[in-house]
Amino acid sequence: MILDFLFPRLCLGCEKNGGYVCAKCSSVLEDDFGGEIRVSDAHLEQLFFCLRYKKGGIVQKLIKQFKYKYSTEICKLFGEIFRKRIVRWHLRADVLVPAPTSRARLRDRGFNQSELLAKEICLKKVLDCLVRNDQHGAQAKLNRAGRINNLRGMIAMRSEFDVLGKKVLLVDDVATTMSTLKECARVLKASGAKSVCGVVIARGEC
Ligand SMILES: [Zn+2]
Repeated sequence: MILDFLFPRLCLGCEKNGGYVCAKCSSVLEDDFGGEIRVSDAHLEQLFFCLRYKKGGIVQKLIKQFKYKYSTEICKLFGEIFRKRIVRWHLRADVLVPAPTSRARLRDRGFNQSELLAKEICLKKVLDCLVRNDQHGAQAKLNRAGRINNLRGMIAMRSEFDVLGKKVLLVDDVATTMSTLKECARVLKASGAKSVCGVVIARGEC
C-alpha cells in the first residue's frame, strides 16, 4: 500500500520498520505459550489465554490497535497464535462461538473483533449465535458485582442457531472480569451445549 510507503509502520514491540510486529518480536510472541485462567464456574469449564500481558507491552499495544482500528496483519498473527495454542492444549470443539459485542459498539467500530478472530482461527466452524443488548448502560462504568448482575438477560441466543449437544469454544480478545464469558457460557449451556470452554488472546485490562 502506498500509505505504508509514505508512512512506514513501526513494530509495536521494538519500533523497527516493517509492519506492526517485526520477525524478532513475532518469534518472542510465538515462544510465549500462555496458560490457563482459573475459573470456578458451573458453565464455563476451562479458560485459556494465548499471550502474557504486560502493561505498556507489545501484547497490549497489538490488542488496542486491533480493537479500535482493524488490521488484517494483526488478525492473521493472532489467528495463527490461537490455532497453534488450540492444538497444543488439545482443545476440541464442534463450533467456535465469538463473544458478542453490543450493537452500539458494532455501529461505532464496524466490526466485532471476536468474530474476526474466530473466523481467522477456522472460518467453517464459526457459529455467530449470540447477541448482546446493551440497553442497561455501559458495562465499563459498573463495578464487578454490578457487571455480573447487569449481564443477566443481556446476552441471548439467536433463535435460528442450534448448539444442542455441541462442544463449544468461546472466542474473545481479552478476559478482564470474565463476567461476559461466564454469561455467554450460561446461555450456551441453557441452549443445550454439551460443554463450553473459552480462549482469549490475553488476560488483562486492555
Ligand atoms: Zn520488533
